[in-house]
Amino acid sequence: MSAAIDLHDLTVTYERRPAVHHVNGRFAAGSLTAIVGPNGAGKSTLIKAIAGTLKPAEGRVDRGSLATRHIGYLPQAAEIDRSFPLSVADTVLMGAWHRLGPFRGVGRKQVEQAQQALLAVGLEGFEQRSIGSLSSGQFQRVLFARLLLQDASVILLDEPFTAIDARTTRDLLKLISGWHGQGRTVIAVLHDIEQVRQHFPNTLLLARETIAWGRTPETLSNDNLRRAKNMAEHWSADAQPCALNEEDDL
Ligand code: ADP
Ligand code: MG
Repeated sequence: MSAAIDLHDLTVTYERRPAVHHVNGRFAAGSLTAIVGPNGAGKSTLIKAIAGTLKPAEGRVDRGSLATRHIGYLPQAAEIDRSFPLSVADTVLMGAWHRLGPFRGVGRKQVEQAQQALLAVGLEGFEQRSIGSLSSGQFQRVLFARLLLQDASVILLDEPFTAIDARTTRDLLKLISGWHGQGRTVIAVLHDIEQVRQHFPNTLLLARETIAWGRTPETLSNDNLRRAKNMAEHWSADAQPCALNEEDDL
């Protein structure tokens, strides 16, 4: 169930502009880590590189023997389209796709697992509702149910609690803590520093580069938080292209 993720000199660029710059470190197997940093710090970019949806410009992500389809990934809400007419049950069942493959249909076992997952997120009886009719908190519960069905050993969450009500946040934090207890590796982008201090043993403080990465109390020192903020204030609207990439072009 456990898997480590190693970042080796990881740089990810958009049109050669680095959004994540020479990041090195390890998310240990079974660790629970928050990624914290100012807007535009490259947090979502890093998560996508770990998920395998963005390719590094430099360096690499080492997932050991783990295939990217075995990584659970919850994108930032703004990137999810829920105008598509899908039922709650079908959305949750998508979590089983990597196990079923495209040609093996959903069986009774998967339907039961989906019901169990909906029960676990407090949405029993919501199976036939369309996802467009849910509140943002309910929809986030559905996406967590889908992650439960996916049964991934590494779970990536990009701002799972932004614009989510307090009760849903509390319930979903319990699920995260349960995943941690089962030895899964969980990485979550978060904004609420107090929440991180309370629930996340490890933190990566990112401002395109690593400001600090380690145990949460030391990482989130006032000094480090100030440094991260200062970095962000010095970013111009368009950052300089990565020097290493420049050389590659010569
Ligand atoms: P965060 O999640 O920490 O707010 P992002 O990873 O979303 O930061 O973005 C990091 C930087 O990369 C920002 O300057 C952002 O504008 C830029 N960026 C993000 N996505 C794209 C994209 N698809 N194309 C070009 N630039 C992007
Ligand atoms: Mg983001």
